[in-house]
Amino acid sequence: MEIRIFENKEALSRAAAKYFIDTINEKKKPVLGLATGSSPLGMYEKLIEAYQDGKVDFSNVSSYNLDEYCGIPKNHSQSYWTFMQENFFKFVNIDNNNVHIPSSSGDLQEACDKYNILLNEYEIDIQVLGIGSNGHIAFNEPGTPFGSKTHYVELKQSTREDNARYFNSIEEVPTHAITMGLANIMKAKKIILIATGANKAEAIKKMIQGEVTEDMPASILQFHPNVVILTDREAAKTIINNT
Ligand code: PGA
Repeated sequence: MEIRIFENKEALSRAAAKYFIDTINEKKKPVLGLATGSSPLGMYEKLIEAYQDGKVDFSNVSSYNLDEYCGIPKNHSQSYWTFMQENFFKFVNIDNNNVHIPSSSGDLQEACDKYNILLNEYEIDIQVLGIGSNGHIAFNEPGTPFGSKTHYVELKQSTREDNARYFNSIEEVPTHAITMGLANIMKAKKIILIATGANKAEAIKKMIQGEVTEDMPASILQFHPNVVILTDREAAKTIINNT
């Protein structure tokens, strides 16, 4: 694992975007793994700027998102489909036919199976991840088997509390979600994990220095050959003090 610690969000976001821009410019048909949440927002802003400056072209890009809430419609203001449209897709020239976000309407098992078939067929060149304060990646909560593929999950209370800031009340936060599994994520050729803020510090330490265990889903990344962790000083404070 490579760990890069940044003085500010601007520099971190620019560095994260550069990995994506380089991949897109190198590949004929780049396949991106995308994430929602606050962590990748700055990176999306930088990618939009690069597109507007003519430095990157999304016309041959395909994308696969990590997860989606269940129990709210696709066009709900807090669905991950809406998040991606509003924060990224509508500003760049990606073809919406090449955009994939797990569908959480209808038969959930069927939706998972379909997503797994797609993910078996297409290799993700570069995947961005956030990390939950409890160590989840995507919605793979503590205890998720390392061999898991796309599945639907009941969200932990801590995750619902973390995400309640986007809803009017905790009661409105969905209780379930559909998510890529850890085995799907580990197939990505390169992984960029972004973590900022003191509330991620414990998870960062356990992910990097702790035991590799299903109780800390992000610890599986210790087994991935090409991971870069981008953090600010706050999120890295537990590892800085120990080195
Ligand atoms: P955040 O969420 O980027 O909003 O902090 C990360 C996560 O829960 O995976």
